[in-house]
This record gives sequence, structure tokens and C-alpha cells, in this order.
Amino acid sequence: MKYVSTRGQIEPVEFQDAVLMGLADDGGLIVPESIPDVSDRLVAWSSLSYSDLAFEVLRLFIGDIPDADLKSLIAKTYGPAFDPAPAQTVKVGPIYILELWHGPTLAFKDIALQLLGNLFEYILSRTKGRLNILGATSGDTGSAAIAGCRGRAGIDIFIMHPAGRVSPIQQRQMTTVPDENVHNIAVAGNFDDCQRIMKTLAADLVFKRKYSLGAVNSVNWARVLAQIVYYFKAVFDVRDQTGAERVRVEIPTGNFGDILAGWYARQMGLPISKLILATNENDILTRFFSTGEYSTGRLIQTLSPSMDIQVASNFERYLYYRLDCNASRLRALMDGFARTGSLRVEADSVAANTAATAPMSVDPAILAGVGTQDDVLATIRKYHEQYDYLLDPHTAVGVAVAERLEVEDVDPLICLSTAHPAKFPEAIKKATGQDLAHHPAIDALANLPTRCVELPNDIEAVRKFIVKTIS
Ligand SMILES: *Cc1c(COP(=O)(O)O)cnc(C)c1O
Repeated sequence: MKYVSTRGQIEPVEFQDAVLMGLADDGGLIVPESIPDVSDRLVAWSSLSYSDLAFEVLRLFIGDIPDADLKSLIAKTYGPAFDPAPAQTVKVGPIYILELWHGPTLAFKDIALQLLGNLFEYILSRTKGRLNILGATSGDTGSAAIAGCRGRAGIDIFIMHPAGRVSPIQQRQMTTVPDENVHNIAVAGNFDDCQRIMKTLAADLVFKRKYSLGAVNSVNWARVLAQIVYYFKAVFDVRDQTGAERVRVEIPTGNFGDILAGWYARQMGLPISKLILATNENDILTRFFSTGEYSTGRLIQTLSPSMDIQVASNFERYLYYRLDCNASRLRALMDGFARTGSLRVEADSVAANTAATAPMSVDPAILAGVGTQDDVLATIRKYHEQYDYLLDPHTAVGVAVAERLEVEDVDPLICLSTAHPAKFPEAIKKATGQDLAHHPAIDALANLPTRCVELPNDIEAVRKFIVKTIS
């Protein structure tokens, strides 16, 4: 499998180069040249273990790592670090919760970032190279990326977070890691500022090459790829339990990374009848799927900080497919978006795809809705009282939206649970009136020393810090 850029201006590359490149050198996102159809393998795959399934999915997209090496990379990734397994489906009341937070930092991002850390180490050990990871986080990416890269030979990792805008626990998860190759940066700005700094430095090709800059954000194709696997696992598990042909999957969304993996799984032939996209009040994606217009609004801080995002960096991949992989049309749209903060998918292609059923969506495969903070609190309370199950606030955004959109649909519903509630104890307290959300790994962080530098919201300040730190 070769990889190209959504903007069409790089030579096709193999998987390992795609992983190292992160953001494509032409400023676009890296996508596989084609999407394999696995419809005829679903029966054979449905009884595989998580690791065996990961191997089958990943090898379709990885042409330059021998099977034996890929197998051992996967075994190393999805072993004891995930307790008891990367993806667990549990029935809670009327829905199936897909728990994706059994990894080291208790968020679903571990599933992709533990693999990415192992991939980086594997690639660098063969090329004798070095890599300087630059990442931006609204909370969970940072700790999961740090957990994936800490202590690894050949790697330094720089993670920017918006100062004072990640939860105290998320901050401690990042800044208490003692390894010397880990560098936390608190930027005086919001998450989009951090993301802009990262994108600007990654787009400076001279700088990127000179300092071997790599990416762990969900712009990195390997992250999307790793996440495709658990859609297969969950759909197989629920079909097994229910005998249903097709299932619906709801995904709480920020950067459009997780849901994009579900979209790829569906394109590959996995029988997902609907993808339900859930945002919090930062609703750029919900507005897009209702109207066809993608336009930034004002950033609002909510109880689900990892979804407090106005520009969804992975959306460009989806848009590329919507434009029939026409890179020059995509470039024109993205250029316009960079200038005006708004873009529109043409009315005719919207109209042609509009489903007859309510609610309206510009894509018949994707329904979208907003879960407000009131919805989140009510949903956490309800699931605690009725089912004795604690939802974290991100998961609750999704469950609230899915319950509201459940318009006489018979297909079983899987709701992705993206974090352990102990990461967000304030929201749980607010919803239930009790201090219920704990986990020994989180409680243990309280008294550890922290390390972090504070920098202004300024590209040059971050650039200087990186250069000074690694030289
Ligand atoms: C990152 C994150 C999300 C959003 O995932 P995207 O891939 O950015 O859409 C949702 N919930 C939690 C807990 C997260 O950390």
C-alpha cells in the first residue's frame, strides 16, 4: 500500500515514511491510495483475538514491514499494557458501551499511541535515526503520547498544552513523567493556538527536516489505522451477542480522528448502518453534517475538554473522499477555509446525498448531534442511578446524543467510551453529588513532582525552546 497526500503534491510513499512524515510535506494529510474491501473476510475474522485482528487489518495497509516483525510489534503493544484488553464491550441498559480506556493513561488514545511509540522505535532502530515529536493536546493526547514515547531511544517528545485549560489530572499525567526525553510546554493560549503552532512548525520543511520533526497528533496516519481495529472487534462482539446483521456506532468527537477510523472500517465493508457523531457545544462538525457548511465558531470550555475543538484536523481526510479524491478541489476549499474560516460542500453533492429520514444529514452514513453540558450531567446521573455505571463526560456527550437520535432504529447501538471517569472527577461530582470516580493510577499522581515550561502563545518561542533543548 502506498500513501498520498490529500493535497496531491507529494510523491507516493510507503507506510514507514508516512508515519515519520506525520503531516504531509505539502501541508495536507496522508491517506492510503486505496481502501481495501474485506467483506469476504468478515466471517473468518469474527472469532480472532484483538491482536490477531490487529495484524490482519494492519498488514493490509503496511507493505514495508515484514509479517513477523509486525506480529511482534502488535504483541508488544497489546500485551500487559492493556488490562484486561484494549477494547471491552459491555451491555449497559439498552446500549453497548465499548470501553477503550484500559491502557496506561486510561483514555482510548493509548490504543493508537502505544502502537505509534513502538512503530517509531522500530523504524528508528533500523535507520539509526532520531525523531523529535512535536504535539499539541487539549488533554488526553498529551499524556497518551508521552506514555507511548517516554524513555524510548532516539526520541525526544515536546507536548504543548493550553495553560490552565486541561484538567488538573490530565496536567499531572503529563508533567509527572520523569523521563528526560519528555518536555511539557504550557502555552498561554487555547488548544487551537497550540495546534496552529504545531502545524506551522511542521509546515516549515527546512525546520522539519533539520530537526527531524515527527507528529503524534491524529494527523499521523498510524493513529487512525490503529483505531480501525476496534471497530471490527466491537461490531463482531455485538453481532455475536445479538445476532444482528448491522450495528450503529456512536462516537464522541473532537478532531474527527476516532470517527474517521470508523468511517474507514465502514468503507472496508464492516456492517455499520450509521455512524453517529456527537460533539459538545463546540459544534462545528455537527453544523457541517446538518448544513454542509464548515465554519469556525467561538471556542467554549466544557466538561469534556478533549472535545473543545473548533478546527477538526482530521476532517480534511473526510473532505478529500467527499470530493472524490480530487486534490486540487480540496486545495481550493482548504485555501478558502484558511482565508475565511469557512467552507461549503457544494449544494448539488449535498442534495444528492441527503437522506429522506429526519434528522437531515449531508452524509446518509453519518448522523450528528450536540450533547450540551446539561445533557452530560443528566446522562451521567441517569446511568449511575439506573445502571450503576459511571460514564466519563466525553462518553456522556455521545450517549446523550445517541439516545436522542434513536429514531425507531432496530440495529444495536455501540457507544464508544473514550476515557475512564476517574480522569474527570469534578464532572462526576457535579452530576451525582458524590466523589465516586477514582482509579489507583490516578490517585497515585497526587504527590509526585512535576516538570513543565511556560511559553507565550508564539511560534518563535516554541521553535527556540525546541532548538535549545535538543542541541
Ligand atoms: C481525544 C478525545 C476525544 C475525541 O477524539 P477525536 O479523535 O479527536 O475525535 C473524545 N474523548 C476523549 C476522552 C478524548 O481524549
